[in-house]
Amino acid sequence: MINSAVETPANSYALVGGTLFDSHTGSLNDGKALWVEGDRIRAVAAPDDLPVDIKRVDITDKYVIPGMVDVHVHSEDWHAPLYLAKGVTSVRDVGCELETSLRRRNEWNDSNAVAPRLVITGPVIDCPGNQWTAMTHYVNTPAEARAAVDMLVEHGVDQIKPYAFLTWQCFEAIIDQAHHHGKFTVAHLGKRTNARRAIEAGLDEIEHLSGISEAMWSEENDAAPDWNWMYLWSALDRQRMDKMIDLIVERGTWMAITRLIWQRLATLWDTRLLDHPQLDYIPTHLRSFWNTFINKPMPPELRRLRSAQVAGAQIFAAKLIERCERICVGTDTPLPHLTPGFCYHDELWALLECGMSESALLQAATLQGAKAIELDRQIGSLDAGKYADMLILDSNPLVDMRVINQLTTVIRGGQFFESDALLAQAKTFAQSNTPYASTRFNDIW
Ligand SMILES: [Zn+2]
Repeated sequence: MINSAVETPANSYALVGGTLFDSHTGSLNDGKALWVEGDRIRAVAAPDDLPVDIKRVDITDKYVIPGMVDVHVHSEDWHAPLYLAKGVTSVRDVGCELETSLRRRNEWNDSNAVAPRLVITGPVIDCPGNQWTAMTHYVNTPAEARAAVDMLVEHGVDQIKPYAFLTWQCFEAIIDQAHHHGKFTVAHLGKRTNARRAIEAGLDEIEHLSGISEAMWSEENDAAPDWNWMYLWSALDRQRMDKMIDLIVERGTWMAITRLIWQRLATLWDTRLLDHPQLDYIPTHLRSFWNTFINKPMPPELRRLRSAQVAGAQIFAAKLIERCERICVGTDTPLPHLTPGFCYHDELWALLECGMSESALLQAATLQGAKAIELDRQIGSLDAGKYADMLILDSNPLVDMRVINQLTTVIRGGQFFESDALLAQAKTFAQSNTPYASTRFNDIW
């Protein structure tokens, strides 16, 4: 592996003179130095209290935020430098072939890895119906569903992911069995598993606002076997939205809204995506797969449905953000035109558009994400004892979030990385035509 690390000052050093983002309160603090030892933050201390002989790195006028967390990816080996380059220092893989995800977790969590930290669910658990065969463990009965959870837990996955085609009985069995093992559950819901019932059954996190429209219009959804969930989003109803959000807030369900994936799916016919500069970082193989969608015309009816869904979900997300604190940030990369790392920034802007404040958004991207992936004792805030995963920014992100786009220095486990060097590494790989295995797309290529 190419080493993109620039020289890290010493095994023990202190960042002095910068302003620190407190992800517990969403505020900025001056006057404290960050003392890093090895891969951890040793202390957050007044500069006068530092050891006299410690190596001091002057970051006057700079801002430090914790490394960011993408809670929804389908990781592949080549993604690693792109995540880091864009300040994403931890990711959760929510659907990958089991052996691959266990192997990758070992590699990426190594203290010298040029990669984000990785939390995994292994394959999703689903009933027949979804097309992602390589990353799905299929079950037909509640007994098989429970056995699948047992098997995944035995192999050491971190969390459990039920998927969109489950029957209600299988879904309930998965949640119950996962909780029996003390495992957090994160779901992509579907027609038979609407969000209200799923939350009442104890589901911990919902991805993509899935199952929400089915829950708000459950009578219509139950009555018509072919009722289209996208169409349901076009019928907005303030009372139903409020009731849904009441339940989410009351039960403390985590929400990974993932605005961007729906926007992309709605505009895949847009040929302007074909020469997007981010494509330079995408291996040829995957780039041509993405472009097959663009070259396929989208019928006007589907365009209309998708755009109605995007608009409805946008309004729901805006209302949700007003009241729900348990928001985390996820992308679903590498689905079409979601470039790892880059699309995380696009997702941040999409959440700003929904009316999220800059400080709440940075909290969602750091500590809230860390909580959802259950790494908050290790990452997510600039506290003594946690990993030294942090980003050095040139100006105040609470005044203008665009500074995150201009990120140059990323610290992962105490080691310094230059964003440009990581991007160059990723570009070289993308253009080398090296074949790689994709657990997400192999079966439908
Ligand atoms: Zn996904």
